[in-house]
Amino acid sequence: MRAYFECEKEGCGKTYPLGQVVYRCERDGSLLSVKQDLGALQNQFALEDLRDVFDARRGRAVDELRGGVWRYKELVLPDIDTKDIVSMNEGTTPMIRAENAGAPYDAVELYVKLCGNDVTGSFKDLGMTVLVSEVNAIRNAGALVAGIACASTGDTSAALAAYGARAGIPVFVFLPAGKISTAQLVQPLAHGAHTLSLCTDFDGCMKLVQEVTERENLYLANSMNSLRIEGQKTIAFEILREFGWTAPDYVVVPGGNLGNVSAIAKGFREAIALGLCEKTPRMVCAQADAANPLYRAFKTDFAEFEPVIAKQTSASAIRIGNPVSYERAKKALLESEGIVETVSEDDLANVGAHFDRSGFFTCPQTGVALCALTKLLLREEIERGARIVVISTAAGLKFTEYKVAYHEGKLADVRSNLSGRKIELPANADAICEAIREIAG
Ligand SMILES: *Cc1c(COP(=O)(O)O)cnc(C)c1O
Ligand SMILES: [Zn+2]
Repeated sequence: MRAYFECEKEGCGKTYPLGQVVYRCERDGSLLSVKQDLGALQNQFALEDLRDVFDARRGRAVDELRGGVWRYKELVLPDIDTKDIVSMNEGTTPMIRAENAGAPYDAVELYVKLCGNDVTGSFKDLGMTVLVSEVNAIRNAGALVAGIACASTGDTSAALAAYGARAGIPVFVFLPAGKISTAQLVQPLAHGAHTLSLCTDFDGCMKLVQEVTERENLYLANSMNSLRIEGQKTIAFEILREFGWTAPDYVVVPGGNLGNVSAIAKGFREAIALGLCEKTPRMVCAQADAANPLYRAFKTDFAEFEPVIAKQTSASAIRIGNPVSYERAKKALLESEGIVETVSEDDLANVGAHFDRSGFFTCPQTGVALCALTKLLLREEIERGARIVVISTAAGLKFTEYKVAYHEGKLADVRSNLSGRKIELPANADAICEAIREIAG
């Protein structure tokens, strides 16, 4: 086996095959991570060859491995049979230079990686293609798995529903009633997922789905399941490839359950181990004041960690008070001299709106990341000239209610500094010209 689950507890060392239905160590209950046998890979390929193998798969319409996750199959699920892969060419998302955002951003080299430009509109597709592929392989090998279930703040359920539909595997999603956007609710419905709306918050859904999956022979798709991390870590490989296999100085990620920040750090760690790049970027995790347990722990140098009750925030996808991947994120931050920053509702909305004025259409979570970056630049904690990648985690179009409320000045705790107003006019050229002259001043 070139990849397997390994217990994350120091000194335990217990391993499990990826085809086994197991989420925690049977000996001590710790989370599991996927361990890749990088030595075997290094024996199989010379470094240059490995990069060539990855590159050659790009953009080939008929190749199952053409997407931005499976292009790196040898580092994701090296042992899976290609026929079991459930892919929709995910991960080939653009990374765009933020050129005209003005000060303080013009002092650095800033890129935004649009991970929301994926089939279901968020980076969750990257992990879900891997998890659903593995479950597909398990079912095709004859094991009894009745379906896949997850708890979600919206985007995980959309991704699971889409990939489950593609694979023909039943999906059950556990959603907190009234706490996700309309788009996020309609996505699992459209894909035919069994959509359970529950009167609790995300953390409540998470508890329930763990109990129900155990009792009903369903596979659990939450990010405690480290198969998803293997897909999401390819964000690091994609960033490296776009910079000619050199690492940026900083990667800024909005964090909720903290799987993604851990995943991207793992990608860089493995790239270094293989010699694909030479250094790791400093990871910056951005949280909203309403749900910032990681920030609070960071402030104690990770001496203490207290879950919080997550409060109302526009950044609903990171409204999580008890992040399951806390230990993984802590490790990622300590190893990379990382930083955690927290932002207010007012700031995240206005910074997002500022970037919209330069052509982006930011989701509120991306607003959190951009806002955290802004604070670090203003405090000069990030040096001039640094090369920075901000991970945009979802498409802004998934959050239309939020965008409309911002521009109508109706967001709680937000003073909309950049609201756009529609101009109502009669359908008459004279009236329109007059209005335009007035605007032009
Ligand atoms: C899931 C999600 C996040 C948070 O990722 P974690 O791995 O839970 O930290 C951020 N933004 C969006 C849009 C998401 O869907
Ligand atoms: Zn263990």
